[in-house]
Amino acid sequence: MAKQETVEHKYVYAFAEGNKDLKELLGGKGANLAEMTNLGLPVPPGFTITTEACKAYLATGEEPDGLADQIAAHLASLEQAMGKRLGDPEDPLLVSVRSGAKFSMPGMMETVLNVGLNDHSVQGLARQAGGVDQEATGGADRFAWDSYRRLIQMFGKTVCEVPGEEFEHALDDAKRAKGTGNDLDLDADDLRGLVDAYKKIFFKHTGREFPQEPREQLDLAIRAVFESWNAERAVLYRRQERIPADLGTAVNVVAMVFGNLGPDSGTGVAFTRDPASGAQGIYGDYLANAQGEDVVAGIRNTVPLQELERLDKKSYDELLGIMARLEGHYKDLCDIEFTIERGKLWMLQTRVGKRTAAAAFVIAGQLVDEGLIDLDEALHRVNGAQLAQLMFPRFRLDHEFQPVAKGIGASPGAASGKVVFTSARAVELAAEGESVILVRRETNPDDLNGMIAAQGILTSRGGKTSHAAVVARGMGKTCVSGADEIDVNVPQRRFVVGGQTVVEGDIVSIDGTTGKVYLGEVPVMPSEVVQYFEGSLDPAHVDNALVRAVHRIMSHADARRRLAVRTNADTGADAARARRFGAEGIGLCRTEHMFLGDRRELVERLILARDNADREAALAALLPLQRADFEEIFREMDGMPVTVRLIDPPLHEFLPPLEQLAVNVAVAQERGEDVAQEEALLAAVRRMHEENPMLGLRGVRLGLVIPGLFAMQVRAIAEAAVTVTRSGAVARPEIMVPLVGAVQELETVRAEAEKIIAEVVGDSGVEVLIGTMIEVPRAALTAGQIAEAAQFFSFGTNDLTQMGWGFSRDDVEGAFFWRYLELGIFGISPFESIDRDGVGRLVRIAAEEGRAARPELKLGVCGEHGGDPESVHFFHEVGLDYVSCSPFRVPVARLEAGRAAVETDGSDSR
Ligand code: ADP
Ligand code: MG
Ligand code: MG
Repeated sequence: MAKQETVEHKYVYAFAEGNKDLKELLGGKGANLAEMTNLGLPVPPGFTITTEACKAYLATGEEPDGLADQIAAHLASLEQAMGKRLGDPEDPLLVSVRSGAKFSMPGMMETVLNVGLNDHSVQGLARQAGGVDQEATGGADRFAWDSYRRLIQMFGKTVCEVPGEEFEHALDDAKRAKGTGNDLDLDADDLRGLVDAYKKIFFKHTGREFPQEPREQLDLAIRAVFESWNAERAVLYRRQERIPADLGTAVNVVAMVFGNLGPDSGTGVAFTRDPASGAQGIYGDYLANAQGEDVVAGIRNTVPLQELERLDKKSYDELLGIMARLEGHYKDLCDIEFTIERGKLWMLQTRVGKRTAAAAFVIAGQLVDEGLIDLDEALHRVNGAQLAQLMFPRFRLDHEFQPVAKGIGASPGAASGKVVFTSARAVELAAEGESVILVRRETNPDDLNGMIAAQGILTSRGGKTSHAAVVARGMGKTCVSGADEIDVNVPQRRFVVGGQTVVEGDIVSIDGTTGKVYLGEVPVMPSEVVQYFEGSLDPAHVDNALVRAVHRIMSHADARRRLAVRTNADTGADAARARRFGAEGIGLCRTEHMFLGDRRELVERLILARDNADREAALAALLPLQRADFEEIFREMDGMPVTVRLIDPPLHEFLPPLEQLAVNVAVAQERGEDVAQEEALLAAVRRMHEENPMLGLRGVRLGLVIPGLFAMQVRAIAEAAVTVTRSGAVARPEIMVPLVGAVQELETVRAEAEKIIAEVVGDSGVEVLIGTMIEVPRAALTAGQIAEAAQFFSFGTNDLTQMGWGFSRDDVEGAFFWRYLELGIFGISPFESIDRDGVGRLVRIAAEEGRAARPELKLGVCGEHGGDPESVHFFHEVGLDYVSCSPFRVPVARLEAGRAAVETDGSDSR
């Protein structure tokens, strides 16, 4: 035997060669078609061209070496399996050419059906389809010519960029000539005429005849699918969904089966559970005598899947059996596309289905009950972003509000806003800060921009599986679909419902859970999940699957997590709420607001003090006010640690703005009034004016410059703690010094603070810790030294990000972040999610060196990153003791801390 010189790279896999774990290589669709094939399910034969072939093509603009031959070989096997040849004039094999990336991108890329038809094979197809029901389909000729015109239309549009409307107009013209509004009324002759019209359109736009050579059709279609990876709407969708841009798509070539061969044929989509609520049952849409694209596009109104039982009991039972099998196999909600050709069921697609946030929790809980997954896995399958969504408010409905229409609750939430009818208008109004509801008959991938800009989406056609529904669910955006009482007129920018006309700019409210549509703005109320967190819904007693599932999964997260979760709260009320949400302490109590309001006057006196006596008088007046603030918080947080940050921002923030003050003084002087007080204030403001206040006199620097300021705060904290403890509660204050960059700063503050604490606390048993923020890069880099003087570190990742990158947050976010995101310099703003490599490295160094110097050092984070899911995982990995975030993010942080523990520490129960 001749020795093989080079091992050829494998670019093509028959379905039997793949499996569900090869998504990276075969895309989700290809991997799952392979999995179903290997399960022995009825999948039409076919093969998958890998994402590697796509990447090679996109990099060079040419098919990689060997690809053409491998396709030829697999096509030959496919032809053999089917006993037909591609485009054979007598009995043609037809194929679909379908995109399919690692992550599902519904409707974003291209699919071409009926490849292999040409002027000759269309006749062969008609002959082979002979015996189709003449009544229902207009016969075999009609079917064949309809298939051919669909090929030219899809091929023209997706492969050759012929504007799709031209084909639609030609179709409309044909229907008008026939005096009908229904495609099905066009007979074989009409469709033959339409094919001619389509070919002319094709020629006009491409300068060439519609390709007759089947293999050329196939190759061009494959190229078009490769290229669709970089289509504008696909790029936009990936950015929105944070799908990496370099994965490429696979291409699936699948033998065609026909759902449009008569009433005993049809096509549908199904879910093994309700993707909106998670409820068990049979959910799906079916359309008799149609090709698959008709269902997904939401063009014709479908019937509920249950109807299939009546139409074709055998196929229905088989489908239900397959659905149960798939769910058991994937151990998750599956989303299925199928076609029935003359009573024979074919599976065309399955995937683990997208779902709403509520369904994610409910399904995870059910699968645990059914013994399919354990609690660790359940925790892994939900996330903080979903939980955050479930905490959104809902509509508060009383008799004033009667729905004007009811569609399908396709993606939950409560949205109100001005009606718009086009994507462009939605983008325009949203940019002006308006809430808008995008109203369409149905959406298509070109509406993506508008859907992103809108608060909610309302369509009059299409089911739970229409484009609008699927994409909105993916975005977590409220959507009502198929509200067919609404008559939408896009050109006139209005819709009519129940005799009322709603024009662009009118306000409507849509409920994506119930599918109800209201005119006007409906007020909102807290969600059930928030009521549960607040303690007003007891999961043991309410009959609410969602609340029970959330309770169960949250309890497991709490049991698993290693990170404690604290909250950022400055008032007793915030502290109390956060505690109900599960906070285990306060990680950041800012004291700034305690100097505002009617206390400004005291602060002015402090700043303007002419001598020590003046200043001390001002501080003495502030002391009891501060003490009362702290008492309230310590009482609320009885037994839990409370980190109080000494005053941080520059003092001029507490004074009137320079310009305004200067004008006031000038005017008063003009009038000859006594302005001595104002002049002194103005002089102080001038003196304190800074070019760059973020890097100026603030934080510990201020405490070292203004005698007695920190001392007053420390005394207020210690006295409040003693009072609260004497009253029988437990106060656990932690005093935090901001903006430290050198250990000497901290040592100076600490020496004074310890003296005061010792004096105040006496034998009360109160223990006060002293620690520091780590928010200046120098502090992170000298953490070993700083830890000698600190009992705890709290990472202030907002400032650490600002100073680490050299960004002034207020200036950069609007100025150039959009460009950095566009260029991919950031995947996400470093203020939203911690920059692991840079700022995160500072955190890591400080944590390690701090702990090395002082093993019992407590480590936490109190920047906004403390409530960001991605960042929580990072802080878990670094080994911090806690994260602290705003009260509403506390449940999110608890959940993500639990998930982080399960993911990095491994499962404890499998
Ligand atoms: P998408 O990724 O947008 O869902 P698909 O590749 O699944 O696109 O194709 C769109 C529709 O075309 C599917 O709903 C399916 O019903 C239909 N279809 C695809 N391939 C075939 C085939 N081989 N036979 C019959 N119908 C097909
Ligand atoms: Mg599909
Ligand atoms: Mg700071």
